Amino acid sequence: MKQQKMMLPFKSRKLKSGEYIIVAEEAIPLIVSPFFLEQLSKSNFCMDNLEKEVIDILSESGYITKNIEDVSIIPDENFSLFWKIGRISWLTLGILSMIFNLYSISVHHVFVSGQSLIQLNRIGWEMFIYIVIAAISTTTVHEIFHLIFSRNIQRFKEKTRFYLFKATATVTMSHIWVWSTFPRFMAVSSGIIADSVFLSIAIIVQQFFPSWIFSVVFAVLWLRILWQFRFYTNCDGSILVQCFFDNPSFAKVLPTDSLKIKLLRISLKVLGYIVLVVILYIWIYPFIVYFFKSKF
Ligand SMILES: [Zn+2]
Repeated sequence: MKQQKMMLPFKSRKLKSGEYIIVAEEAIPLIVSPFFLEQLSKSNFCMDNLEKEVIDILSESGYITKNIEDVSIIPDENFSLFWKIGRISWLTLGILSMIFNLYSISVHHVFVSGQSLIQLNRIGWEMFIYIVIAAISTTTVHEIFHLIFSRNIQRFKEKTRFYLFKATATVTMSHIWVWSTFPRFMAVSSGIIADSVFLSIAIIVQQFFPSWIFSVVFAVLWLRILWQFRFYTNCDGSILVQCFFDNPSFAKVLPTDSLKIKLLRISLKVLGYIVLVVILYIWIYPFIVYFFKSKF
């Protein structure tokens, strides 16, 4: 029996611009006009009721399937009191931990640069292994909190991609674009908050059990936090900007953009590159100099 192609069940939300965003499981979020959305809604998920141009756009973005039974429904934002308290508590903890971390820089000297790692006099395989372990464990915690706050934790295996060579992981959470502002903001910022809280815990534990290994953890976590603000590319900081403007394609240049938006986009890009230069200068450059000096 020939299987009929069907459109995936989708969810939508009106953006600040007046257009709508639609999302579906495994599909690319699409920004569409109210007229386009009306056509989709009227079609009742049946392809026969849609025009060819509409079908082409949907097909290219992954909204058409043959096995509709296998498709899971994207998670809804949860309006319960439990989730409201959970989101506010995690944000509060994040702000307090960041204040504590910044305060600890001057008091406990926990901002560990590449040069500070070299001065530990432990450069070698042992330190390299601790850096990899710290990078993998902290990226896992970061992504788990994205999964919790994007309500995807039950689908950890399907939604998480591990990049062992880069010692990083990523999760897909485009479905949050149909959520309201605060839950969406928390789904994106929950990872950075996890890094900050992890850092605070490490600072406190180090007071009782001092070890050079904590210096590795501090360096990895500060680098990870700064890494999220490379605004020239897709990272948590860039998605937070998109959330703030309620525009998932904020990075895309449009002829209708106002001068204010153009300047802001350029400023953020420049800031992102400055962050990259700072990261390279603080953590990578000292190691290059060290290896160059030790070789020659
Ligand atoms: Zn993240």
